Order: sequence, then structure tokens, then C-alpha cells
Amino acid sequence: MIKDNLAKVQARIDKVNHTQAVTLIAVSKTKPASDVQQAIDAGQRHFGENYLQEALDKIQALKNSKVCWHFIGPIQSNKTKQIAQNFDWVHSVDRLKIAKRLNEQRPDNMGKLNVLLQVNIDNEPTKSGVSLEEIDEVVTQIKSLDKLSLKGFMCIPNPDHSQQSFARMAEIGKRYPDLATLSMGMSHDLESAIQNGATFVRIGADIFGKRD
Ligand SMILES: *Cc1c(COP(=O)(O)O)cnc(C)c1O
Repeated sequence: MIKDNLAKVQARIDKVNHTQAVTLIAVSKTKPASDVQQAIDAGQRHFGENYLQEALDKIQALKNSKVCWHFIGPIQSNKTKQIAQNFDWVHSVDRLKIAKRLNEQRPDNMGKLNVLLQVNIDNEPTKSGVSLEEIDEVVTQIKSLDKLSLKGFMCIPNPDHSQQSFARMAEIGKRYPDLATLSMGMSHDLESAIQNGATFVRIGADIFGKRD
């Protein structure tokens, strides 16, 4: 079933008219390692997790598989060390302090940690992410951190008008041609995100089923 769902989601991606490469991230939060294993067996390689402890359990359980792990959830300062030690990508860098800690805590024997700057694209007080005004300054600062490789931006728009928010994110992204990665789009709005230039889509429910 997970295999069929992956094929269906991939077909939706392929159906959207786009020129950029789009990578599907299977968001496995709250789902057991056995579900992730099924997806791996079906050829899926990129997985997204939101909660550190359950993510570490799955990373440990699946350590013999060739998996690329993406941390996509809110980050508390006391969690940065284990994130820096266990993940390939972090999408949810939402303030400079977190970037600095990840940089200090990335082990020397691992490559640079790929990071995305999370942007509060609708300027919603309840959402994390840097404001549009802060982007320029924070980008400059993160680029100076030598154990991080800043690749682009991530956003979680308000679902009431995600189309406009994706378009705004894409416009901002164009100002930074060397930061070409755009992580946006979830189960209900992946088509619109890809039309607006998403290069990573983060899909949970439509692959693994609804969460409780
Ligand atoms: C849970 C989550 C997703 C996946 O959402 P679905 O609606 O299940 O596809 C994507 N991105 C983030 C940041 C999430 O927390």
C-alpha cells in the first residue's frame, strides 16, 4: 500500500508541468520504522522527520539502509547537537542561534550539514521562520559558518492562500541564485508548490496514511 501510494504521489509530481528537478521527501513522523522500511523497499530514499527522539530511533533501526534523513520540525536549542550528528539536511533553521549551534556541533568527520532557512512567508505571529526583512542578514551570517552548506529556503504557508505564498517564496528565492533549493508543498498542495518552483516536496499523509 505504501508502495502504491508512493507511485501515486510520484505520478502527481510528474503530471505537473515543470522544468526543475523535484525530489520527493516522504514525511514519516509518527509512523513506525517498518513503514519507512516498506518505502525504502519501494525505492524511496529521502525521509523527513519532525520529532527528534522518534527520528533517532528510526535512524538507528534503519542504519544499514542507504537513507537521506531530513529534519523538518521545530528546533529547540537543546536538540541541535543530535540533529547535527544524525541528519543530512535540516529544513527548519529559523534563527541564527540555531544555525550557529548546528555549525559548532556538526562532527568534523561528517561532511557539511545541508541547511535551508525557514521563512515565515505569511508573517504569521504563531509560525516559526525568519521574517522577510531578516532574510538578507541571516543568509549572510549563515554563509559564513563553515560546517553548514546553505542551499535555499523552506516555507509552510497558510493553507488558505498557499498559491500566493509559494509564488512569493519563489520570487524571494530568485534574488539568491546560488540558493536554488526550495522546500515547499505538502500532501494537499504539492501541485501548486511545484508550479511555483519547489525542488523538495514534503509528503506525509498521502504516502503513509493519516496521522492520529
Ligand atoms: C507533517 C509535515 C509535512 C507533511 O504533511 P502532510 O500533510 O502529511 O503531507 C510536511 N512538512 C512539515 C514541516 C510537516 O510538519
